[in-house]
Amino acid sequence: MATTQERPAELARLARELGALEAAGLLRHRRTLSSAQGARVVVDGVPLLSFCSNDYLGLAADPVLAQALVEGVARHGVGAGASHLLTGHTLAHTELEAALARWCGLPAALLFSSGYMANLGVAGALLGRGDVMFADRLNHACLNDGALLARARLVRYAHADASSLARALERTPARRRLIATDAVFSMDGDLAPLRELLGLAERHDAWLMVDDAHGFGVLGDGRGSLAELGLDPRRCAQRVIYMGTLGKAAGVAGAFVAGAPELVDWLVQKARTSVYTTASPPALAVALAASLERIAAGQDLRARLAESIARLRVGLAALPAGRLAGSSTAIQPLIVGESVEAVRWSEALAARGLLVPAIRPPTVPVGTARLRISLSAAHGPHDIDRLVTALHEVATERAGLAAAR
Ligand SMILES: *Cc1c(COP(=O)(O)O)cnc(C)c1O
Repeated sequence: MATTQERPAELARLARELGALEAAGLLRHRRTLSSAQGARVVVDGVPLLSFCSNDYLGLAADPVLAQALVEGVARHGVGAGASHLLTGHTLAHTELEAALARWCGLPAALLFSSGYMANLGVAGALLGRGDVMFADRLNHACLNDGALLARARLVRYAHADASSLARALERTPARRRLIATDAVFSMDGDLAPLRELLGLAERHDAWLMVDDAHGFGVLGDGRGSLAELGLDPRRCAQRVIYMGTLGKAAGVAGAFVAGAPELVDWLVQKARTSVYTTASPPALAVALAASLERIAAGQDLRARLAESIARLRVGLAALPAGRLAGSSTAIQPLIVGESVEAVRWSEALAARGLLVPAIRPPTVPVGTARLRISLSAAHGPHDIDRLVTALHEVATERAGLAAAR
């Protein structure tokens, strides 16, 4: 019989596997910030210029939002204390849901504690055995996890390729179908062909789930990717399940799903990640209402972000190594290939005071490890120039090393 002093075999296995990850350049570390989120952060005690957040409008540390949060706490206390179906649902939640639905031009909205939970909840509420989720190959992991949890079949189609989806829809019999896509792809920054996908959803009697984690607040004058692509909200309300997250451009935390009233009523009943969890603190909803107002009046922020995107792309047009992906959004990936190479680039930038994360498999496909440069309204032109200069230095270094090998 094993004694408590013996090391369980499972612990030894975990240690071995962690060692293997490290050897493959795939071990991930949590950086510890001692500052607020923003363009300038202090990471593990070192001040860095950061291109490493999803705080696209620079609202995560906005003083007006912070004050709203404080007022929310004064009114509602700290915790919700119960799930939405018990007594955790407050006036602050109701008002925020109504404001979000209005802002997106959709009939109704439902809050979730995070985007991950929203995606799991939607898939579980709408799909079961015998049903199919059609998913873009580069979708965020949590959409796929939703299909798994719902025990639905997951059929993946070629990235942003409506004809690949059309073929999959034609050859896949299913009781119910849900097409799921990132609107802005989180590691590539490109947009899904939502107009074509909506057409296919209509033709094949399917839902279209649009995960707008990286579009809400930024694209379509802040209304998101559906507005950016000029899709009529009345048409969308029939088929689209719109998911916006509130911890990225909105700067706070949480997520919402918007769509038809029947859809939202059903999710209230059946989305397990809503039913079986404590409501998020009402003070967050108060802060989010302030965030939504700032987003609505946020043309200044979006214009500054757009200037930074253009400045970066011009600056990196003739880089001697690495390949800048064709993105027009705040997510600007610089593809370098191997995981270890991506880590070297990231380290060389860190040595120059710049925080740009290396993104490696399995988050992105093998052979496409990259720097994920993300821009924010908190960056100024001088910040972009610093990054461009440093990237030219590092790229020249890496190209020289590759030539010498
Ligand atoms: C971040 C993200 C999510 C998860 O949202 P959270 O609120 O962070 O849980 C979902 N989908 C996509 C595409 C994301 O980038």
